[in-house]
Amino acid sequence: MANSSPLRIDVLTLFPEMFPGVLGSSILKRAAEPITHPADLTNVREPVVSYHVTNLRDYADNKHQKVDQPSFGGGPGMVIQCQPVWDAVQAVEAMDPRPTTRILLTPQGEPLTQPIVEQLAELPRLLMIAGHYEGIDERVIQKLAPIREISVGDYVLSGGELPAMTLIDAVVRLLPGTLGHQDSAHHDSFSPGSQRLLDHPHYTRPRTWEGIDAPEVLLSGDHAKIEAWRKEEARKRTEERRPDLLGDDPTA
Ligand code: SAM
Repeated sequence: MANSSPLRIDVLTLFPEMFPGVLGSSILKRAAEPITHPADLTNVREPVVSYHVTNLRDYADNKHQKVDQPSFGGGPGMVIQCQPVWDAVQAVEAMDPRPTTRILLTPQGEPLTQPIVEQLAELPRLLMIAGHYEGIDERVIQKLAPIREISVGDYVLSGGELPAMTLIDAVVRLLPGTLGHQDSAHHDSFSPGSQRLLDHPHYTRPRTWEGIDAPEVLLSGDHAKIEAWRKEEARKRTEERRPDLLGDDPTA
């Protein structure tokens, strides 16, 4: 069994009920369990992650558990207040002595990339704060510095819950011991093993489907040739779809 302690991930949210389905399925579920695969109960290791989802309303200072108020200056939409966010962060951080990296999910943050995910996967604790409505009172964000503000893309979602789950999935699949074949993450698109290009196309049985053959080279058993083919396909695909990743795109 490995003896390093599992990554602890906390999420502060107004909608904790959104999380169990995602955190309780597939790879994210398995990573939090001591068994590496349900079919092999003898294959035991420490869980590589633990999830702790906290309802911000539990830290409301009023009996109605209200945590939002209208925006100063008017306009539509509510704003999450400072006090419940601040109190929840203090309480949750006190639950484990290891240093926490605070993350606010916001469309105004740095765009999430694979290198950021790789950095976060090296840390002992992550605390993710999911906003909702118009967002969170700016003063508590200031007071929580240093805090990393991360966006999952240039579009706006109703809340930070899906972005938090996206980030959790991206991080947890990189933790040693999560994936059966560690190499598969290393060679994915944007990853070091693919030179941060797009992945090559993949094929499986049957050999011919709807009259379309899988590339012959993949069935040749010649590993050097297969490797060369995959490298070339990855390069072509990246050139067509994401020339910016090749670093020589004049429009990037
Ligand atoms: N008024 C905010 C703005 O225009 O920047 C948008 C608020 S959004 C409706 C509510 C919450 O969803 C945000 O506080 C944030 O937590 C989350 N959110 C929405 N889009 C996101 C994105 N692209 N990346 C990360 N979080 C996002």
